[in-house]
Amino acid sequence: MDTGRGCFMEKHHKFSIWYVLFAVWMVLLLHNMIVQMFAVERLPYSAFIKALQEGRVVEVAITQDRIQGKLKGTVDGQQVEKVFTTVRVDPQLSEMLEKYNVTFKGVIESNFLQNLASWVLPVILFFGVWYFMMRRFAAQQGSFLTLGKKKAKVYMEDEVGVTFEDAAGVDEAKEELQEVVAFLKVPEKYTRLGGKLPKGILLVGPPGTGKTLLARAVAGESHVPFFSMSGSEFVELFVGMGAARVRDLFAQAKEKAPCIIFVDELDALGKARGAGITGGHDEREQTLNQLLVEMDGFDATIGVILMAATNRPEILDPALLRPGRFDRHILVDRPDKKGRTDILKVHAKEVKLGPDVDLDIVAGMTPGFAGADLANLVNEAALLAVRHDKDQVDMAEFQDAVERIVAGLEKKNRLINENERQIVAHHEVGHALVALILPGTDPVRKISIIPRGLSALGYTLQVPTEDRFLMSKTELLNKIAVALGGRAAEEIVFDDISTGAHNDLARATDIARSMVKEYGMSEKLGHIYFEKERQNQPYGDLTMSAKREYSEETARIIDHEIKAILDSQYRVAKDILTSHRGVLEQGAALVLKEENIEGKRLKAILDAG
Ligand code: ADP
Ligand code: MG
Ligand code: ZN
Repeated sequence: MDTGRGCFMEKHHKFSIWYVLFAVWMVLLLHNMIVQMFAVERLPYSAFIKALQEGRVVEVAITQDRIQGKLKGTVDGQQVEKVFTTVRVDPQLSEMLEKYNVTFKGVIESNFLQNLASWVLPVILFFGVWYFMMRRFAAQQGSFLTLGKKKAKVYMEDEVGVTFEDAAGVDEAKEELQEVVAFLKVPEKYTRLGGKLPKGILLVGPPGTGKTLLARAVAGESHVPFFSMSGSEFVELFVGMGAARVRDLFAQAKEKAPCIIFVDELDALGKARGAGITGGHDEREQTLNQLLVEMDGFDATIGVILMAATNRPEILDPALLRPGRFDRHILVDRPDKKGRTDILKVHAKEVKLGPDVDLDIVAGMTPGFAGADLANLVNEAALLAVRHDKDQVDMAEFQDAVERIVAGLEKKNRLINENERQIVAHHEVGHALVALILPGTDPVRKISIIPRGLSALGYTLQVPTEDRFLMSKTELLNKIAVALGGRAAEEIVFDDISTGAHNDLARATDIARSMVKEYGMSEKLGHIYFEKERQNQPYGDLTMSAKREYSEETARIIDHEIKAILDSQYRVAKDILTSHRGVLEQGAALVLKEENIEGKRLKAILDAG
């Protein structure tokens, strides 16, 4: 589904089969009619008898009701054979009629049902064959029998039975959504004062973290109708249908306001336009365009809130994220240990637990699990208990279930192993500790080893206290030291370094290069600005060296200066961490245990030690 080619193929089948079969059917029908109307002469029976007596009939085929055959005749003085058909008449009667020279003919009482059948049967047959073929395609291609019937439905629920209590471990997201709930409950309260709520809220997070659940919970909490559609289903419609459906959806929603429109898997629909080999997918683009048009066309004050979910925000069409569209983003992240305990509690409500089950311990065994994995875990444990003929779920079942699910997730590469967690924890605390100790760096808000997205294994969140336009040399140097703190920690603790730092290295090197070449902050080179090298030159080095406006010698000094800055800042980071090794270890242990700590807590350890 993802590649341009796949889309093209599918579209191709959809249209050609439908049109070709339809055309064939029409041609056959027309052909029949033409043959019947023009080529075959319908003779009255008396004319047939007469022709017979004149010896003009060449051959006949007799059926119950009709006689068909060939007949000699003249057209424009030429001898031709014509095909004729006539309806039979009772032979005795016909002799009598003939005697008195009456023109007579047989008429088959037109049987309405029979007539209908002769029309309807082929049509039914045709659609039957067509349906069958579609089914075959569906089996081969995953989902084809969409036709806007079963799939791509817009679901409307008047009352959603899900509340915020059903979603655990996502407290920050819930807090942000509370505002939306308050608005939907009494929109007038907000609009009276001219307040405006964001029109579009985008829930962003890895699969299975409860984005769909939260969207439904917002509707459930505020007791408003919930319209939902899934982006991936819309991609499979015929051209024009998706757009029409979107239009319908908004029209309906406006009538039902206040309400929520939820677009699940927005990325399927909202991929950047014009991407792919075939130059994009017409249907997707049309649907997306319609969505954008509708979003711009409605006014949030009527009480319609548009929500969407995606786990790949980076591929979304930028047009979707502009102000006035999906401009509010809410992160729904994988839960930390406490969050996992809470989620397990939610799902364990439905099963009978043995006295030895400690959900805290289960949460400790499941780092990296998302809400859906935990729901699955409880279910699996319950199934195992049934298989073991128990009437309650014991810790043994939970242990078994964890092992099974971990194996599955490891195959999908979604979990990191214990050794990696150790490295990541020390690495992240390394960044944070250097930042805490060096003056003038942004405060550390959060340290986490919960894997995020696809690349970063852990992260240290530094939030600037104010907007900055100028930075001093010291600040830049400190930034480099913080960036290198991760790797320095790894080296100190494990006497080895890992690949996990490559983003850090890129950032540190960038800053150092800018310092030397753009900000004139190198003592050796002095206050000088060197033209930025153009990147992505088609011919690489060749043109680049031709463009360079400084000598080989200077280039060497620049390289040397950049390296000197990086080396000295690495030493700064390493010195800090070596002299605070105790704090580093304690901090890492805490992060390993809780997976996600506030910066303040590391500061507390530092201040205590
Ligand atoms: P997403 O939309 O983020 O992929 P879903 O909302 O579809 O995830 O989650 C699938 C199921 O997993 C939910 O129906 C629920 O049973 C369970 N689940 C996921 N996240 C949570 C959570 N935070 N709290 C409780 N259950 C959750
Ligand atoms: Mg979902
Ligand atoms: Zn790092």
